[in-house]
Amino acid sequence: MDLQSCDLCNGTEFQQIGDRDRDGNPLTTVMCSRCGLVRHAVVPSQQELLEFYSGGYREAYNGERTPGVRRVMRAWKNGQRICRQVSPLLEAGSRLLEVGAGIGCTVKVFEEAGFQAEGIDPGGEFLNYSKSNLGTTVESKALEDLPCEQQFDAVLLIHVIEHLPSPRASVERIAKLMKPGGMFYVECPNLQAPFARRSRLFHTAHIHNFVPSTLQCLVESCGFRLREIFGDDQDTNLQMLFQHTGEGGLRVDERNAARTLEDLGRANALTYHFRARYVSDRIRKVGSYANEHLNAKRFVAQLIEEHQESKAA
Ligand SMILES: [Zn+2]
Repeated sequence: MDLQSCDLCNGTEFQQIGDRDRDGNPLTTVMCSRCGLVRHAVVPSQQELLEFYSGGYREAYNGERTPGVRRVMRAWKNGQRICRQVSPLLEAGSRLLEVGAGIGCTVKVFEEAGFQAEGIDPGGEFLNYSKSNLGTTVESKALEDLPCEQQFDAVLLIHVIEHLPSPRASVERIAKLMKPGGMFYVECPNLQAPFARRSRLFHTAHIHNFVPSTLQCLVESCGFRLREIFGDDQDTNLQMLFQHTGEGGLRVDERNAARTLEDLGRANALTYHFRARYVSDRIRKVGSYANEHLNAKRFVAQLIEEHQESKAA
């Protein structure tokens, strides 16, 4: 296959590991034979991505133009989890940017925890909701629109890196926005999570798919050093905190490609459904869906009311 070179190691040898996305539509997925980074065979251009995301992606993917109450409640609670994890490692009052802020709940949670928190997102609709209902500091901007000044003490990149045509270009750009020694938190799906079934793995919108090794090597090669990993290796999401060092240098984990293939080979429908962890997660999830139905409306109404009051005060 004659493909665009690997975004992590610049390798040019790939092997195909999938031919369908999770909905059964054709999607060729490849793995770099050198470093094991998994991605779409054909990386869409910026122009194609613009069309994809402006062409009602949110509606197609989530079925909504403004966020529903369950989505807002989930985003708020997720923001609280991330703030609990990360804030003890940040200096009080420091300046924080979320790239790809979505509804903006995480930005607001950090603001209320005492940080100067702001967010950017290329799509405008969810941001309008968050600005007008929660008073969040968010702007409709792309990463490339921010001036390359070392202005942030911390940057959050949550469920964004998997959507990027070149994670390297974006992480290098983020490194230029950060003060020396600043903290960089990245969260994305974990391809190596043990109950990820191969046929359920690949998503049209996820151009790159990471395992712990590829995420760590890529971010570190852009001038960071891993400081902390949250969650455990069974978590469906990778959650890593890096510190800005300004020193790049590529380290390729030569064993990762074979390990990733082995993990993917093991993941079949049977283990997916019968692993104890899957079952307990599933029960918890079904329980929390029911809980969301009952509580989300009340939760969000109260959230908005509190923030309207604090805006008025
Ligand atoms: Zn590679």
